[in-house]
Amino acid sequence: IVILMTLGTMNAQKKPYLDTKKTIEQRIDLLLKEMTLEEKVGQMNQYNGFWDVTGPAPKGGSAELKYEHLRKGWVGSMLTVRGVKEVRAVQKIAVEETRLGIPLIIGFDVIHGYKTLSPIPLAEASSWDMEAIRKSAQVAAAEASASGINWTFGPNVDISRDARWGRVMEGAGEDPYLGSKVAIARVKGFQGDDLAAVNTIAACAKHFAAYGFAESGRDYNTVDVGNATLYNTILPPFKAAQEAGVRTMMNSFNILNGVPATGNSFLQRDILKGKWGFDGFVVSDWASVREMITHGFAKDGAEATLKAVKAGSDMDMESHLYISELVQLVNTGKIEIALVDDAVRRILRVKFELGLFDNPYKYLDEKREQEVIGSKANHEGVLDMAKKSIVLLRNEKNILPLKRSGQKIALIGALAADKNSPLGSWRIASEDNTAVSVLEGMQKYKENTLQYEKGSDLTVGKTTFLDELVFNTTDKSGFESAIKAAKDADVVVIVLGEHGFQSGEGRSRTQLDLPGNQQELLEAVYAANPNIVLVLNNGRPLALPWASTHIPAIVEAWHLGTEAGNAIAQVLYGDYNPSGKLPMSFPRNVGQVPIYYNQHSTGRPVDSDKNVFWSHYTDVEKTPLYPFGYGLSYTTFDYKNLKVGKATYAKGEAVTVSVAVKNTGPYDGKEVVQLYIRDIFASLSRPVKELKGFELISLKKGETKTVTFKLTDKELGFYDNDGNYLVEPGQFKVFVGTSSENVQEVGFELQY
Ligand code: BGC
Repeated sequence: IVILMTLGTMNAQKKPYLDTKKTIEQRIDLLLKEMTLEEKVGQMNQYNGFWDVTGPAPKGGSAELKYEHLRKGWVGSMLTVRGVKEVRAVQKIAVEETRLGIPLIIGFDVIHGYKTLSPIPLAEASSWDMEAIRKSAQVAAAEASASGINWTFGPNVDISRDARWGRVMEGAGEDPYLGSKVAIARVKGFQGDDLAAVNTIAACAKHFAAYGFAESGRDYNTVDVGNATLYNTILPPFKAAQEAGVRTMMNSFNILNGVPATGNSFLQRDILKGKWGFDGFVVSDWASVREMITHGFAKDGAEATLKAVKAGSDMDMESHLYISELVQLVNTGKIEIALVDDAVRRILRVKFELGLFDNPYKYLDEKREQEVIGSKANHEGVLDMAKKSIVLLRNEKNILPLKRSGQKIALIGALAADKNSPLGSWRIASEDNTAVSVLEGMQKYKENTLQYEKGSDLTVGKTTFLDELVFNTTDKSGFESAIKAAKDADVVVIVLGEHGFQSGEGRSRTQLDLPGNQQELLEAVYAANPNIVLVLNNGRPLALPWASTHIPAIVEAWHLGTEAGNAIAQVLYGDYNPSGKLPMSFPRNVGQVPIYYNQHSTGRPVDSDKNVFWSHYTDVEKTPLYPFGYGLSYTTFDYKNLKVGKATYAKGEAVTVSVAVKNTGPYDGKEVVQLYIRDIFASLSRPVKELKGFELISLKKGETKTVTFKLTDKELGFYDNDGNYLVEPGQFKVFVGTSSENVQEVGFELQY
């Protein structure tokens, strides 16, 4: 301790900003005074490290250039460098070879786990279990930090109503209330209570903003939304993340009403840093500063830089523009130095908070790396999360849970034996083919006979991130043996869906069916033996009208991560009773998209009391195939005695709503009790239903619990088109139930 103190005092004398007795803001003041303009701009520059810094340069010597910049102190952050060895190599340069020794902040896309993978985020959101989600992010933070990383580009808090958009797999679905709760859980999981602890990392809410509203679900496409949607649907999860203390945000590729998010002062300066008082920093999305040129919003790199910095984009991810343009822009008076200082202050603040100045090598511990990554506890953690993420969509004739012995089971489908797809998209650090397959999971239940048949292939072509993909196969040579196995079996378990890389960035689809010839396979197997359990592996809602009326049991298992097969087998065999609920509506067909539960009423009522409205299609029912909040259990729940505390409430009083829920079926189980409201008349038309509360409860067979909700101004109001939050008096409906469609109703009045 004495030696450390002496070193600390010596350092503080040489570099006063290292004096830990000073506040972070004082230390930043001291450091800023010593920095040249180039060094300041350097802090705002982030380089990718994957291959070209730590490995050989691909072409043109960019690795050398990056190294040169690193040595000059012109790099503030690197992304996709990972592993203690790699991170140490670059951190050592920043700390020991640059003039001021400012440590790098090391970013990485830790989206659903690091090496030991949790379910994709959309699946996790299906758990409605905020504690489980927090813990899952904590496991991810523990592994990533043990690998030298101190900042994740997560959580993705983009609300989306469009299943065609491939990045719905990264978010929490269609609802801003659930999305906000999930955002908070993830931020808390990544950042913990103490950002300076060695096993926590800075989080990054992304993509600010409106990226999930790309027209027609085509990734990167134009976004044109009104303020009602922006304030009430898109921004709330970002605000929740900010209130939970998220330290960074990432802006987005899209334009919003003509202005690229990266050059959007209204979003970044007025709302985020102004109204909300966000004091962390904003990183651009990958090359999104440069993309403002292709958007036709900036004529060249200098103008793109000018617009981005003025709009509050603090760090440039891989556009290489701040580093080439910003010094000149300041020197010619086009950008005030105060804007640069503000950006640098924000970046340094997070570095100080992470404790990087006090010990830049704190994350670099090979022993911890060995112990933490892939530990037994982490596997148990992601298994737990995986089970909680499964949604039971259909279970006719109680085909599930499967009988444990004396059964002949035919297991069919390429995905059933796939050890790669369950890992899902966005898993850069984990090795391929490391998931437990459904086949492996089911083989552990030895008292049944299990025969596996692939039936058909799902994938041909390359399968790495952003490569060209060809998914459809027409080869039916495996059908015959699959049909035979089905005929011989008591029960068929068929695993169908999407390849793990069929969702994610750049992975939009126009069809929401089962790709390839899987539908044909399903129907052929059904003709041989209709006693089928369909297990779905997918990264987005699918439209499966035929399956939903023919296949007796359907289990939505998403891409569940490393422990996928174990989780699925445990659910199929009833060792775990599923309790997941859909965070996004499943459409009947693509034409219904965007379809979401919290729609507005149209002016043409048929029966407005029942939320039935004339606006409809002539060729398909108006309702979704499976609504938001829907999911079954092996047991059943009965809702009784729904009550509000009183008929009228005065301003500021909390409205209480209670309901008794009974487990009326044959198993212990869990239920997500959901509460929705409708503000019947308001100064702006309000949605027919809005989720404003939920509680996950466990009930033993026969047990009853009373759940009480409190609704305060926070739940009862809405934003007007200028972004003001209003709580208006009048009549409200309250709906409580087991999904957004299956609810009971009461009402109350707010009297001011
Ligand atoms: C994505 C971001 C991601 C970044 C870095 C971009 O293409 O849109 O979500 O964090 O790349 O990998």
